[in-house]
Parts: sequence; C-alpha cells; structure tokens
Amino acid sequence: MMRSRPYAELAAAWKALRSHGIRVREIACVGAPRTLLVAELGEASMPTIALSAGVHGDEPAAPWALLSLVADGLLDARFAYRIWPCLNPSGYAAETRTNAEGEDVNRSFSRGGTTPEARAVLTANRDRRFALALDLHEDFEAEGCYVYEPLRPGFAPLYSQEIVAALDAAGLPVQTFSDGFDLGAPPSPHGEPLYVLDRGRVLVDYEAEMRAFEGLPGSLALMYRGTPAALTFESPRPRPWDERIAAHRIAVTTVLARLGPDAR
Ligand SMILES: [Zn+2]
Repeated sequence: MMRSRPYAELAAAWKALRSHGIRVREIACVGAPRTLLVAELGEASMPTIALSAGVHGDEPAAPWALLSLVADGLLDARFAYRIWPCLNPSGYAAETRTNAEGEDVNRSFSRGGTTPEARAVLTANRDRRFALALDLHEDFEAEGCYVYEPLRPGFAPLYSQEIVAALDAAGLPVQTFSDGFDLGAPPSPHGEPLYVLDRGRVLVDYEAEMRAFEGLPGSLALMYRGTPAALTFESPRPRPWDERIAAHRIAVTTVLARLGPDAR
C-alpha cells in the first residue's frame, strides 16, 4: 500500500494557507506530546460549520480532501468555519486507527473528553455553537461511499439523500448494505434498532445511539451540545486515492449547498 504523505507535510500545507487569510493555530493536547491544528474562516457573527477529519489515523484521504476544499476556495462564504484538519496526528503518523496511547479518539468525547485530543477539542469548542458538523472518515470494508445522518426523534433526514444523489451524478461508487456489513457500532443494549440502512445512508436514531455508546463519537457529542445535525461521511478505503478525494469534496460541498439560508 502506498505510504501516506507525512503529517508534517499536511501541517505545513495548512500553515501555508495563513497567507490566504485563513486563521491556523496549533492547540496543545494537555498530557500528550502533540498539538492539534485548528483553522478558522469567516466572521464569528456568521453561522458556523464544524468540519473535521483524521480522527482515525489510517484514513488519510479525508484530511487531504479537507485541505483541498479550503485551498481551492470551495467552502461557501455564507458561513464561517471551524476546521480540525487532523484530529489524531499520532495515529496519522503511525497509520493506525488509534492514537499513540492505543485509544480510539472517536470513542473518547464523553465526560469532557477521555483522550488528550478530545479534551483539546471540547475545551476549544466550549463557547461555540455550530449550525452543522461534518466529520470525514474512510472505511476499509466498504466498496462505496456512505453517510451517517443522526436524527432526533421526529426529524426527517435533510442531507444524506442529497449526498448520495451528488455521488451518483459524479459517477462515484455508493455503498449498498447487505446483512453482513459491519458498521462497527456497539451492539444495541436492549435490542432496540440503532439505525435504518438505505443505499449509501445510515439513518441513526440519535437517542438510541446516545444510550448505546459508552465513549461518545465527536459527532454525537456535538449533537448533545446542540448542533442540529452532525454527519459522518465515509469513503471506501480500497478505492483509488483521487476517487476518495473527490467523494469527500462532493460530500462537503453538497451539504453546504443544502444548508438553508436560515441556518444559525
Ligand atoms: Zn473512521
């Protein structure tokens, strides 16, 4: 397998965007010898979108796609952005899902954060409200793209069908779910259904998932703190690099186009 480009190269590429007016900072991970990059675009008075990638270190197309979206000016200027370019730098460097301590950072957003990375994110986000969040991943088992859309009771999906339509229009592969497909979610504690599967879409019962997860993913933690929608997009890790990059770019731009002008 092609080795990923080094983390230092990703970080340098983000810092180079400072000359384009993008505010890029490094945030300490208290208790660990690493920092997280955070990038900001737009004014604080605008509705803010949270974008993130790389919480699993062995899913490299997601961080590079996120960088390309910003570098190519594809983020809709109606919104402000808080961007986490790579939420698990030590895992990225080692090409592992977990961080250097062997923790799955995306199961560590409970109780104020149980990893240094989650604590850094939750602390930085403490005073922020987001109109929408989108976290970018890759799936080793998938052959097509798919999106998780968590739904509060009584709410209909707003974004996932549009993403699938846009992927189809671009000729990119969309995942179909057969009985054996492993989403890697925890087993439901009381046998209650956690989600409804459709082609390219996992419609998540937000309240059931909150009960099922012991260590919260970042997306559910954002919804718990009031973000109306926190989506997770997955590209198929076995597919060619350029196709995976294109898929992430389509997912982000489609969600932004769908987000109404009344977003707060
Ligand atoms: Zn992942």
